[in-house]
Amino acid sequence: MREFNIRIKALTPIWTGDADRENTTLRETGIIGSLRWWYEALIRGLGGTACDRTNENSKCKLDHEKFKKALKEGKSIQDALSEQICLACQLFGCTGWSRKFIFHILDKDGNLKTTPIKKEEEVIFEFIPLKQIEDKEWVLLNLTLYFIAEYGALGGKTVFKPSDEKSRGNNFYHQDFGLIEIVESKLKMFKKEDLEKYAKDMRLEHINQEGYNWVSIKNFWCVKGKYLARKNYNESSFNKVLGRKEQKNQATQLVDPSNNISKWLAGSKGESKKIFSFKNPPRTFGFANPDIIDFNGIEERLKKVWGNENDWKLLKGDEILDSLTNKILETLK
Ligand SMILES: [Zn+2]
Repeated sequence: MREFNIRIKALTPIWTGDADRENTTLRETGIIGSLRWWYEALIRGLGGTACDRTNENSKCKLDHEKFKKALKEGKSIQDALSEQICLACQLFGCTGWSRKFIFHILDKDGNLKTTPIKKEEEVIFEFIPLKQIEDKEWVLLNLTLYFIAEYGALGGKTVFKPSDEKSRGNNFYHQDFGLIEIVESKLKMFKKEDLEKYAKDMRLEHINQEGYNWVSIKNFWCVKGKYLARKNYNESSFNKVLGRKEQKNQATQLVDPSNNISKWLAGSKGESKKIFSFKNPPRTFGFANPDIIDFNGIEERLKKVWGNENDWKLLKGDEILDSLTNKILETLK
């Protein structure tokens, strides 16, 4: 198959700098890293396995001798890969196996882009295959982008908290980053059941997913049309939901330091928060964790700030995947 282009409109700026670097040049690696993170979450959500690349002991490595031997025995490239490395590493690469594609960001006229992606800007994500990319991989990549567009966020700095405080609304740390809209994608889509079967068939039982099991679309939730923010010096709906003190000068402290749920939701230095919120357009999403807090627990916390009214609904990862795949299939008819 030839290259895959997807036309995207940025609803907010997209952060492509490093964590500490300024967002002055366009760094494609930032977008690829984010795409991969969601791709892994999607694979786990479909019942497959994706390794933890931050863990030296459990991340995938391809042993070339073993790989060549499997090919000699008549196995397909994908089957030979699937004996050793997870689906995310097959597409995005790992030690011993390079990424299957080159990624370019083009401006709307198709020229290579070098400047950061601004709000309202239309760009093209171009994926050029370097190796055979399976149909199901293209579909999963396409679904990942749709998922990010409809329910998640792309790139770095997507964890900044919005603010309603008048003097601080434009402060850098309260800006929204990473919300996108798909303008056009011509790639095909498969039914969720088919993708689940694929992910499960390619499951690598030796991969230890413990500890980051929660990074799965199965645990994902999203509320559209609502956001969490600091209202003034003493009130912050974001902190209230996380279980942190609302008063600004104490905002990094937990209300109850012994509360494991708050500890997990609020994260810590080097560990991400599990709730993300955007003001414009309004969207709040996050993760539950089977070992710590379920969807009901999340909903209870959100009710404390948004009330019981029916003007918001917590959408769960599984139902999102159902409706999203159906919606894409519908548009392709
Ligand atoms: Zn892997």
